[in-house]
Amino acid sequence: SKVPPIILNNGVQMPQLGFGVWQVPDDEAERAVATALETGYRSIDTAAIYGNEEGTGKAIAASGLPREDVFVTTKLWNSDQGYDSTLRAFDASLRKLGLDYVDLYLIHWPLPSRGKYIDTYKAFEKIYAEGRAKAIGVSNFLPEHVERLIAETSVIPAVNQIELHPHLQQHASREVHAEQGIATEAWSPLGQGKGLLEVPAIVAIAQKHGRTPAQVVLRWHVQLGNIVIPKSVTPSRIKENIEVFDFRLDDEDLAAISALNEDRRLGPDPATFDMA
Ligand code: NAD
Repeated sequence: SKVPPIILNNGVQMPQLGFGVWQVPDDEAERAVATALETGYRSIDTAAIYGNEEGTGKAIAASGLPREDVFVTTKLWNSDQGYDSTLRAFDASLRKLGLDYVDLYLIHWPLPSRGKYIDTYKAFEKIYAEGRAKAIGVSNFLPEHVERLIAETSVIPAVNQIELHPHLQQHASREVHAEQGIATEAWSPLGQGKGLLEVPAIVAIAQKHGRTPAQVVLRWHVQLGNIVIPKSVTPSRIKENIEVFDFRLDDEDLAAISALNEDRRLGPDPATFDMA
């Protein structure tokens, strides 16, 4: 399966579809990432807080793939925000991954009430200048956080990774990102696989194309231009989720899915989320 790249605002190419490993324990992550790489995935999304950077790194090393063929994202956890603590946390992530650079480093949450994301991002700019992250960005930033960051720092984030699926279509964020040249990356792109994949409109579109509901939802993201990182530990689903580049949804399908927006989050609200 051929995954096309998205060209980030600094020219770096990021596969439009990657593999997420949230809630996958370290040893299981090693197996799942190995399966994903064998299946053709070339982008892996982890985070310090997931506790599986080591397993992820081991699977990448064991794959035998050239380093430059795998796009690795990790994220700075909340308790490490601040300039010096960010530099230390980044070193720890690299060590666990067994890498000398990551492709993309993200601030996991903005924590606006703590007021540290600007200092944190200045450490990201240093890491970027040193070439130890090929691109830097943010996650869960609301438009107001993105705008403040751009006003007060020098490197426009390459990516904002936000909760995004047919029940939470994030029109306001997507518009700000498009204006600023920031790529939109969707977390929980399948709506965590719960009710969304049984919605009759999605099931009907899947039947029409001879595809699965998960493939239809991922294809909808792809046609919108989103980067997606579906998660599964089941080999058949890992394979199913990457096979979305050989069919197209038509305008009627896209409109039917767009009509499912409910502005409903599954995860926390970034304006108030403050977990250490
Ligand atoms: P997801 O939308 O990818 O759904 C995953 C779940 O859907 C699986 O656990 C499984 O139950 C089901 N599923 C997967 N493939 C399926 C298929 N083909 N058919 C039927 N069911 C299927 O949800 P997610 O894991 O929450 O999000 C994906 C990734 O996004 C995470 O692994 C993580 O890397 C990232 N993420 C980031 C943040 C953040 O704050 N930045 C938060 C949550 C997730």
